[in-house]
Amino acid sequence: MTDLSRRDGGVAATPMQNPEAKAVVPTRKIALEEHFATAELAKKYVARPTRSDTLFADIERRLVDFDQLRLEAMDMAGIDLAVLSATTPGAQAAADTSTAIRLAREANDLLAREVQKRPRRYAGFAHLPTQDGVAAAAELERAVKELGFKGALINGQTGGHYLDADMYLPFWERVQDLDVPVYLHPGELADQPAMFADRPELNGPVWAWTADTAAHALRLVFAGTFKRFPRLKIILGHMGETLPYLLWRFDSRWQMELGVELSHDELPSTIIRRNIAITTSGVCDPNALVGAIGALGEDSVMFSVDYPYEDSKTAGAFIESAPISETVRAKVCHGNAERILRL
Ligand code: MN
Repeated sequence: MTDLSRRDGGVAATPMQNPEAKAVVPTRKIALEEHFATAELAKKYVARPTRSDTLFADIERRLVDFDQLRLEAMDMAGIDLAVLSATTPGAQAAADTSTAIRLAREANDLLAREVQKRPRRYAGFAHLPTQDGVAAAAELERAVKELGFKGALINGQTGGHYLDADMYLPFWERVQDLDVPVYLHPGELADQPAMFADRPELNGPVWAWTADTAAHALRLVFAGTFKRFPRLKIILGHMGETLPYLLWRFDSRWQMELGVELSHDELPSTIIRRNIAITTSGVCDPNALVGAIGALGEDSVMFSVDYPYEDSKTAGAFIESAPISETVRAKVCHGNAERILRL
């Protein structure tokens, strides 16, 4: 947490107060990729993103906690509000739709009760039974209208189906009508591609989840989902899952494949800038942050941690000391989330 001196905005401390206390006011922070699990999801439907038993045991106890551990981590990072979501893969890994519907409802009801206890600290993203597009639409509507949730978080593909499939048209229609964002989060791969053969370390959060989630987002871009539903807002974590880095290439290679020059509105980069926002979850790298803001604009990048898989304190210190102006820092830390999630 360097550079706190810049944050007092030149406001002189009242002589009656401790001037130190006046200066050390961190930027208001909202975090959007913060996970929980119900007892049943924790037992059967949680991915294991580490080989370390010690780390995983700590992750497991933090996932089901809504009190001391979570609040302490938030306070250490200066996080005012955390928008919570069921961890990956959750109900999406259930073998049948009726089980998924039950698990999703139970997760959403539990989260709603926890949010109600601490409405200033917690908000909710819906957990959805994406085995079925109509059931996912119905649970989203219930979560938004009855439970007050701010959108949904989806953990990758479900049974080999990505969200550009026709079975999800009723879902996207409902998302657009409800005017809420959908956070597209990594999940397990549907199959085992040869590129990861004999390299299991790549077939998880180190790389495969990024490649899969980036491809998932690009499927929506190239399938015309945003043309059909132009008001959709998708959120990608992990500094945009590499997409901000490659906008120029998407435009260049897609026009080469088509053999025609596309209008500005039809370019993949335009669609990504218009319909996709990103968070800083799990990438505490100032170079990547500056690049992402340059690629997508200062209104499309939002702070997040990825608790309990990442260290909240590290993430908080990273965003407080990142080489961006105080105006941009305020947008990244809370302003953009307040606008996009209508908080
Ligand atoms: Mn996550």
